[in-house]
Amino acid sequence: MDYPGNLFVVAAPSGAGKSSLVKALMELDSRVQPTVSHTTRPPRGQEKHGREYFFASVQEFDAMVLGDAFVEWAHVHGQRYGTSKKMIEDRMAQGADVVLEIDYQGALQIKKMYANAVLIFILPPSWEELRSRLERRGEDSPEIIELRLQNAAVEMAQAQEFDFVIINEVFDRALFDLKAVVHAQRLKYHVQRRARPDTFQALKMA
Ligand code: GDP
Ligand code: ADP
Ligand code: 5GP
Repeated sequence: MDYPGNLFVVAAPSGAGKSSLVKALMELDSRVQPTVSHTTRPPRGQEKHGREYFFASVQEFDAMVLGDAFVEWAHVHGQRYGTSKKMIEDRMAQGADVVLEIDYQGALQIKKMYANAVLIFILPPSWEELRSRLERRGEDSPEIIELRLQNAAVEMAQAQEFDFVIINEVFDRALFDLKAVVHAQRLKYHVQRRARPDTFQALKMA
């Protein structure tokens, strides 16, 4: 499947700063667009249906799985999460650079489906900092925080399967690194050729 847009997949253990980094990237670069996942977990404080997630019951989610609505889905921290096939393909067909914030299982499923997808793993600088960010965020109960920290070791062991690793210690440095990855992807031969056909033709490279 060849779309005019690029596909970026960002994964990280909970609290590493994935959402903050992707949000900051999108504020700087309007070509980068998110898709909104479906989840069975309940909304956190300020979250709105259709903005952070489409919140679904287990029954609704399973009906979507049966209806082949997801390009990937996975069990994460005891809940189901999935990416809608239609949303991702519509956006890429329009030429958007789509960024998926999903767990490593979903990321690896996406790479099998879209070989050109760019997989980026965000690491925290230390275990102490990861815990303190989850506590400072103040959105999850102590039990949920413990579960997320336990799962973090398994998730981080998968970073070796990814194309790029960004360590989110100083936020602005990590954001610079993320922008660099997006920029480098846009300079790849097949991407440039598609984006600048006139130049390739004028140079008689077409
Ligand atoms: P929310 O869930 O939408 O409130 O967003 P987050 O909690 O993920 O982050 C809040 C804001 O703080 C975002 O706009 C981030 O870009 C920004 N932010 C988070 N951490 C840092 C940091 O260490 N340094 C800087 N400069 N900005 C940060
Ligand atoms: P994730 O989406 O990976 O679960 P968030 O983006 O919600 O993580 O970040 C977790 C918490 O850590 C948030 O409160 C955020 O403001 C904070 N944070 C993110 N990056 C940094 C950083 N480089 N330094 C300090 N705090 C950070
Ligand atoms: P949170 O509940 O903190 O928003 O997300 C928990 C985990 O679920 C994160 O690792 C996040 O990346 C992952 N996640 C969110 N949406 C999806 C999705 O559509 N598919 C998959 N596989 N994981 C997702």
